[in-house]
Amino acid sequence: MLTHWIGGKAVPSAGGDGIEVLDPATGRIIEEIPRGTAEDVDQAVAAARDAAPAWAALTPPQRRAALLQAAGALRAERDRFARLLVEENGKPLREALAEVDAAAGVTASYAELAVHARSGAQQGGTGELNFQYRQPRGVAACIVPWNFPVAVGVENLAPNLAVGNAVVIKPSEKTPLATRELVERAFGHLPPGTCNVLLGDGPSAGDHLISHAQVDVVVFVGSERTGRHIAEVCGRDLRKAVVELGGKDAFIVDDTVDLAQAVALAKVAKYTASGQICTSPERFFVTGRVFEPFVEELTAASRAMRLGPGADEGTDMGPLIDQTQRARVTEHVATARSAGATVHCGGEPVDGPGFFFPPTVITNADTDLPVMTDETFGPVAPVVRVADFDEAIERANDSRFGLSAMVCTESAPRAMLALERLRAGMIKINTNRGKAPGATSEPFNASGLGHGYGVEFLHELSREKSVHWRSHL
Ligand code: NAD
Repeated sequence: MLTHWIGGKAVPSAGGDGIEVLDPATGRIIEEIPRGTAEDVDQAVAAARDAAPAWAALTPPQRRAALLQAAGALRAERDRFARLLVEENGKPLREALAEVDAAAGVTASYAELAVHARSGAQQGGTGELNFQYRQPRGVAACIVPWNFPVAVGVENLAPNLAVGNAVVIKPSEKTPLATRELVERAFGHLPPGTCNVLLGDGPSAGDHLISHAQVDVVVFVGSERTGRHIAEVCGRDLRKAVVELGGKDAFIVDDTVDLAQAVALAKVAKYTASGQICTSPERFFVTGRVFEPFVEELTAASRAMRLGPGADEGTDMGPLIDQTQRARVTEHVATARSAGATVHCGGEPVDGPGFFFPPTVITNADTDLPVMTDETFGPVAPVVRVADFDEAIERANDSRFGLSAMVCTESAPRAMLALERLRAGMIKINTNRGKAPGATSEPFNASGLGHGYGVEFLHELSREKSVHWRSHL
């Protein structure tokens, strides 16, 4: 059974109960991890608590040096981490390598950002100065999902470490391998206890961790359901929490675009990670004139995708993470079909081992169906005809989520209208990319609470005092 990583060493669980980790491409058991007990949580938090003061006392450039070393280790061992990602998550190797590279970049960028982040200062009157004095919060609990175990893991580890917090990270019980390995191998040179991995599931390890009295800040990335629970628990305890949740992103295509390019972008955005990205487009709004050709070309492009295990070179798209996820995707499509929607390709789970579901394009799905309202988190593209750009924006905003949105247009006024009106934290115009290093965003509605990136995230993870200083009594 895999061990926790606590206080700079491998630590077996205090309990005997285990959870099986599966290879999504075959359904085979590849590892077992502890469920994580209250005693394990206590031990991990105590290690972080002990390590926190010394880590906080380092100068920002000293912490930067340690993080740049971690970024170097991520780059040096990219193959090892990527192969673990393929094994436990199922994504194609090239996506896994890109994820590790992104994680190395994120680590380096937070290392720099924390050194250069300045506090504000203003004059309080003659001979009086008022300024912000920023300190680490102490112990951070990071709880992360299974879709980008390394990238999302590092997006939460690196900023916490950069501002001087000690961390306990709990990876998803579905994908613990790469995170466990990465903390030991890439962050293992940090002082013992500064960065700990606690293995286990939500109800045992996770719940104890978020309500632990010695945890100062909880950073959560995951589903709306768990996020609401965590926000409630932390709210009750008055503990700081940042929660980044799911989405139901819109992809808008207007009639000014080159259709082939819009379809190529839609295909990459929709099918990367088999559609299991919080910012995958989940509703396509296409204006009248280009609607039919868009559906036709996206269907052809979807049919041409080769499904297979992530380790195979010819694979365009891997499996879904597990049977639960596949059942959800299957149900969204089946419900739409029985309500009269047209399924242009895909639509049924693939027979055989593993949790494969094919690229699927559907039209005529009613707005109140789960495939239009709830996060599907799979390779399903519901395409909706809209009369014009205004209607596209209106329909895009008709959602309880507000994580991000994509807009394909050659019209600058329409692009401006979109960024002004869309109720989403990240607006991607003619691109699949939502943020450059240092950028920040705050989700709308049920997609989260607080800033998840950039210098604003560093501020969320640290405590600011206002100091008003007069030169004499
Ligand atoms: P999830 O909420 O089921 O689990 C996420 C993590 O929370 C896991 O580590 C899990 O063990 C833990 N957890 C579950 N119950 C808990 C509890 N009661 N207390 C404490 N921890 C608990 O989400 P998931 O299925 O792993 O991930 C998919 C979701 O994550 C999707 O909704 C996706 O949109 C979202 N996501 C959001 C972002 C973002 O940046 N907004 C990024 C990636 C994924």
